[in-house]
Amino acid sequence: GDAPVAEAVPQAGKPGLTLLRRVGVVDPTSLDAYRAAGGYRALRRAFELGPAGVIREVLESGLVGRGGAAFPTGRKWEAAARQPDHPHYLVCNADESEPGTFKDRVIMEGDPYALVEAMTIAAYATGCAKGYLYIRGEYPRAAARLQHAIATARSRGLLGDDILGKGLSFDIELRKGAGAYICGEETAIFNSIEGQRGEPRSKPPFPVEKGLFGKPTVVNNVETLVNVLPILEGGAQAYTEAEPKLFCVSGAVERPGVYELTFGATLRELLELAGTTGTTRAVLLGGAAGAFVTELDIPLTFEGTRDAGATLGSGVVLVIDDTVDLKRLLLRIAEFFRDESCGQCVPCRVGTVRQEEALHRLSGRVDQRDLVLLREVGQTMRDASICGLGQTAWNAVESAIDRLGVYK
Ligand code: NAD
Ligand code: SF4
Repeated sequence: GDAPVAEAVPQAGKPGLTLLRRVGVVDPTSLDAYRAAGGYRALRRAFELGPAGVIREVLESGLVGRGGAAFPTGRKWEAAARQPDHPHYLVCNADESEPGTFKDRVIMEGDPYALVEAMTIAAYATGCAKGYLYIRGEYPRAAARLQHAIATARSRGLLGDDILGKGLSFDIELRKGAGAYICGEETAIFNSIEGQRGEPRSKPPFPVEKGLFGKPTVVNNVETLVNVLPILEGGAQAYTEAEPKLFCVSGAVERPGVYELTFGATLRELLELAGTTGTTRAVLLGGAAGAFVTELDIPLTFEGTRDAGATLGSGVVLVIDDTVDLKRLLLRIAEFFRDESCGQCVPCRVGTVRQEEALHRLSGRVDQRDLVLLREVGQTMRDASICGLGQTAWNAVESAIDRLGVYK
C-alpha cells in the first residue's frame, strides 16, 4: 500500500504544491495516471527548445544542487555538454544517506515517473547515452517502483532508442548501494558502479570532465533533477518567482515528514506547520554534517542558513526539545562518522576516532584539555580531509559547544 508515503507527506493533496503535487495523490505505478497529471509535458518542451535551449532555461532558473552543496546545475550541465570525449554518462545520486534526510525517498516512492522523465531531459541536454540511478539499498520500495517505472517507460517508447520519435537514445540502469554512507559521495558512486571499493576520488578532475569509467559525467541529486520539470513546464521566469524546496522535518514535532515551501519562508514558519512539541531548544540543520541553530527567524535559503553559521544542506530540520540528552546525541553523531569513514585518508580515519574518544571522556568529566583537543582535531579534519565526510565531521559538535554550551 501507499500508507508510508501518505504519512510521510503531511501536505499530500494540498493545492499549490510543485514538487509534491502528485505524491500521495496520483497512482505511482501508472504511467497513464502520470501523463494525465501533466507527465511528459516537460520532455516535449525540451524537444522544442533543443539541448542548448534546455541548458539556457536551467541556467536562467538559477537552480542549484539539492543534494547539499548547492552547485549551479546549469553550469554543471553546460560544462558536461561541451566535453568532446564520449560517451557522456548521467548518474542520479539517490543514495540519500544523510541522517534525517528522506525527501528523495518520498519522490521516488510517490512520483517515480517524474524522476525517469527528468533524467531523460538531463540526458538530452547534456548528450548522455546512458544513465545510472544509484539508490541506497535500504530503499526497497523506491527501487521497486523505479524499476517498474523504467520498464514501463521503455515498453512505451519513453526510454531506449528514438524516444517519442525524436531520435533520442537513452536508457537507465538501476544500481543499489549496500549500506555505506560514503557511497553517496559522487566519486565513490563511480567506484561502486565500476565494481571497485566505494572510496572517494580526489577532485579535481571534476566528474563533468572525468567521472564514471573516466568519461564526462553529470551527477545530480533526485530533488535537483525533478526541479527541471517545473522549470521547463512554466519557464525559468515563473519558476524563480516561487522556487520550491523540500524539507525533512523530524524530532520534537507533532507532524514529522517532508514539507514543500518556497524559498523565503523562515524556520519558524516551517516549525509552525509541523507543530513543535515541548520546548524547542535548538534545531539541527543539514543533518549530522550540519550545525545546530537556536535562532528561528532565519530564512530557509542557502544564503540565509549560511549567514546563521549553518547550512541548508540536504534539507534536514531536526528539532531538539529540552528533554534531549545532547551529550548522547553528539556521541551518536561522532560514532556515526567514525563508523562511516572509509579510512582512506589520515585526518578523517584518525580524527573521527579521536573525536569520539574525547566526547566519551567529556560525557563523564569536563576537562578543558579535551575541548582544546577537539577543536584541533576538528580543524584538521576540516582542512585536510579528502572528501566531505571528514570535512564536515566536526561541524555539529563544534556548533553544540559554541552555541548550546554543552560542556559548560
Ligand atoms: P562539492 O562542493 O565538492 O561539489 C558539489 C557539486 O558540484 C559536485 O557535483 C561537484 O562535482 C560539482 N562541482 C564543484 N566544483 C565544480 C567545478 N569547478 N566544475 C564542475 N563541477 C563542479 O560538494 P560534495 O562533496 O559533492 O557534496 C557535499 C554536500 O553533500 C554537503 O553539503 C552535504 O550536505 C551533502 N550530503 C548530502 C547527503 C544526502 O544524503 N543528500 C549525504 C551526505 C552529504
Ligand atoms: Fe574516506 Fe574520510 Fe578521507 Fe572521505 S575524508 S576519503 S571518508 S577517510
